[in-house]
Amino acid sequence: MEPLFVADVLLDEERVSIRCEDGVIAAVGADLSPSDGDQVIEADGMLITPPMVNCHTHSAMTLFRAYGDDLPLMQWLEEMIWPAEAKLTAEDVYWGTKLATVEMLRSGTTKFYDIYWNSDQVAQAAVDAGMRVAAGQAVIDQMDSAKAPELVAESSEFLDRLGEMGPLVTPCIAPHAIYTVSEESLRGLAELMQERDAIFNIHLSETEHEVQQCLERTGKRPADYLDSLGALGPLSILAHGVWLGESELELIADRGSTVVTNPCANMKLAVGGALPYPAALERGVDLALGTDGPSSNSNLNMFEEAKIFALLQKHQAVDPSVAPAGEVLALARGERSKLVAGTPIAEGEAADFLLLDLRVPEMAAGDLDARLVYGAPSEAVDTAVVAGSVVMRGREVPGADEALAEVRERSQRLTS
Ligand SMILES: [Zn+2]
Repeated sequence: MEPLFVADVLLDEERVSIRCEDGVIAAVGADLSPSDGDQVIEADGMLITPPMVNCHTHSAMTLFRAYGDDLPLMQWLEEMIWPAEAKLTAEDVYWGTKLATVEMLRSGTTKFYDIYWNSDQVAQAAVDAGMRVAAGQAVIDQMDSAKAPELVAESSEFLDRLGEMGPLVTPCIAPHAIYTVSEESLRGLAELMQERDAIFNIHLSETEHEVQQCLERTGKRPADYLDSLGALGPLSILAHGVWLGESELELIADRGSTVVTNPCANMKLAVGGALPYPAALERGVDLALGTDGPSSNSNLNMFEEAKIFALLQKHQAVDPSVAPAGEVLALARGERSKLVAGTPIAEGEAADFLLLDLRVPEMAAGDLDARLVYGAPSEAVDTAVVAGSVVMRGREVPGADEALAEVRERSQRLTS
């Protein structure tokens, strides 16, 4: 791959140029010039920023957008989504994810953590778009512990298979939730996490009902229950965490696990609460932000998610100083979780970044972080670069029209 030279960008307040080589930022400076053979982007004073990292989604669910909205969570899953998903083919998942990659790039996301069926296809669509993905093959056994050995073996094979897809793909273990996966399977998958050093990505404490059910069934709160199975560690990602109690937050901080908050989906499904963010911060819990699937959100726009996260947390705390703009951006860029880690724009870091067009109206003036969070100008995202490759330029994503047509047709078949 030829080196990439980005000329004349605004980094913080300074005009610099940036040279990327072998997927890494090789040089940042005011007086750099391109070498022969460099691919050159004349950025013309655009703003360079780290990209967003969407830490919890089911991206192929673009196929089920605006399908069964305004229903309670379980009714929506049982009556609408699960019957439609039963008809899914691997190709459907590919195209659903392909459309999602277009949406994500256009709203500034270059890496996403995904849980779905046929996740080989999720990973393939991400690779084809030049994006990074942490792809998890969903595991559900409907509490039938006899299925545990087979499911653990399948997850192990999935790790092997996706491990060969190259540097953009991180394969994950992905049990759906503590109410859809038996204790035996969870224990087996936790062992697999330890053995294979693989990410363990699960939904946890999304609804109060889930907590009650867990207490009745196991005598433990959800995080305590997971810990008793060996499933809480630095490679564990817990999506939602709306109903985590104080002692659970302490335990999660101690284990170094990451909690991913999904404020849009939580409010849309009216789960009745929000991640206890101030308490989680106080205890030093690693945190990240995600959109959840485009069926429950119903988009993949991390600028919008960041704004809504900030508003919800301020509102809940009755304190506008909670979740200040700079912190919210750090969260949305993965910089508040040791596991996710962000990609700052500095020499030696991965060459993953965005170029933002300052001619977009919301970008005209004011504190930069506040503009980006509260103005939420995802339209300003002009260019996306991943591992030194330009994956979007001028908001044009290759293959976008085809992905849109495929999803339109496939969605009709799946939801009729
Ligand atoms: Zn989810």
